[in-house]
Amino acid sequence: MTDIWTDALAGLRPRLGTETYELWLRPMVMVDAMPGLLRLRAPSLFMKEWFENHYREAVLQEILSRTHERYTIEVDVAEDAAPIVEFVAPSAPAPIPASTRRASAPIGLSERYRFGTFIKGASNELAASAAHAVAEEPGKRFNPLFIYGGVGLGKTHLLHAVGHALHHARPELRIVYLSAERFMNEFISAVRFNECDQFRKRYREDCDVLLVDDIQFIAGRDRTMDEFFHVFNALYESSKQIMVTADRTPSDMQGMEERITSRLNWGLVADIKPPDLETRVAILRQKAEDERIAIANDVAVYLATLVRSNVRELEGALVRVSTFAALKGVPITQDFVRDVLGDTAAPRMATQLTVEAIQKAVCGYFSVRVTDLKGQRRHKGIARPRMIAMYLSRELTGSSYPEIGLRFGGKDHSTVINACRRMAEIQTTDPELRGIIESLRHQLVGQPG
Ligand code: ADP
Ligand code: MG
Repeated sequence: MTDIWTDALAGLRPRLGTETYELWLRPMVMVDAMPGLLRLRAPSLFMKEWFENHYREAVLQEILSRTHERYTIEVDVAEDAAPIVEFVAPSAPAPIPASTRRASAPIGLSERYRFGTFIKGASNELAASAAHAVAEEPGKRFNPLFIYGGVGLGKTHLLHAVGHALHHARPELRIVYLSAERFMNEFISAVRFNECDQFRKRYREDCDVLLVDDIQFIAGRDRTMDEFFHVFNALYESSKQIMVTADRTPSDMQGMEERITSRLNWGLVADIKPPDLETRVAILRQKAEDERIAIANDVAVYLATLVRSNVRELEGALVRVSTFAALKGVPITQDFVRDVLGDTAAPRMATQLTVEAIQKAVCGYFSVRVTDLKGQRRHKGIARPRMIAMYLSRELTGSSYPEIGLRFGGKDHSTVINACRRMAEIQTTDPELRGIIESLRHQLVGQPG
């Protein structure tokens, strides 16, 4: 008897090719399987993320076609690091026995989001210093601490870092970390199941430090805002530390009650801006070191010049580049970076139009499924939309041919090149195709090309 993971791998291998299989799938180990849930372990965080972004869907489809059941896949990371889980468990954390104090924080914080891995620069200096102060003297100097800024700039990282530092220094503190969305969902289910008392106890009484991510989420949700307001008051009155992040200032949050925004303004409001070049290079160097990616200084600088918008994009770009370098067995040079990211890397990052978005739009237009687009079927009803999606991906994201191939279920770059050529050619003589492409382009970027 084989297991579900081995079966799925056997099915996927011929489709993805041996190279992809060896590089990305074989290192993943099954740790548990039960009806509807498959647990895998990745050898590194990098592998975990790559698997989740590129192959999880294919594996799920494979399992679905074999078992006719929908599965969920959870991936954790080997090493002694604790699995990365995003949220605190619904029940209050148990007191921590002294013997396990140095163990990783049991409160749902990501292992790698620590002060030690956070690079300070002019763009985040105030926020980072305030976060340090909070970790040293919770409930004293900056309460609440409110950190705001655009996506991918390190807000969540700082929030976790405070949680880790406090847990390390004061293991007896009951630290509660969660997203505002989670707060709302828990509240809704507490109301539904008549468990409001437990909910209130958990957040108002059994909590010494409250860390809430993306508070803007509750704006306009009256009952949740009301509940948060009372939680805030209860904690604040007993000098418990509150730290909150958001994508804008308290006063800019449309639909947020005034009594909440005014309270969020009571402490310190600190912003995070996009990092400058030096900081971006420092972040890249650290990430490269963590992931054991060999990248020369001048190449790191070049990469940091191409990708300016935010740190998440920057990290993504490094991962992409190093992945293709590994696939091809070549060193990461400036030319190589340019090939992989494309000349248009900078504007592409800014607009964030992705191959996935294009696939979705094309599938919507033709009423076909994304999995078919990524699959091997060649009849015209699929092949045509697939070629159009590849063509638009090349044109609108500037992604390299190999990268597009990978995102279309691991196809060879020559397939993508052919598709792009044919679409360009046929368009010159076929007004219908030209019309379709134009309308899709319009839908995606809001202007005719
Ligand atoms: P946000 O919550 O602001 O959207 P995150 O905290 O999730 O952003 O950060 C996105 C990614 O960028 C994370 O992997 C994070 O570790 C990394 N990052 C952001 N800022 C920094 C920094 N100053 N130093 C190191 N890594 C950073
Ligand atoms: Mg965040």
